[in-house]
Amino acid sequence: MPVRYCAICNENPALVARSGQEALDEGDYCPVCYEPTCRPHLSVVRWRWRESGELDSGLVCKNCVRTYAHRNWDVFHRDWIT
Ligand SMILES: [Zn+2]
Ligand SMILES: [Zn+2]
Repeated sequence: MPVRYCAICNENPALVARSGQEALDEGDYCPVCYEPTCRPHLSVVRWRWRESGELDSGLVCKNCVRTYAHRNWDVFHRDWIT
């Protein structure tokens, strides 16, 4: 989903020029902190669904990955791998 701006880029103006419009078009809202995030600032995280045992993955912003905030996301259903 395209985003209008990236919260991480806004914290660090030196990064904005490098990512550009294409990075925003390929960006998404972080499902953990709900901040709009450009594609280069999204990271893949992996989990296993507790009910089915199937592996799955999604994108969360690098801020949440760095602080492990994503591991509190839906923890009743997901066993976090990353
Ligand atoms: Zn960004
Ligand atoms: Zn986030």
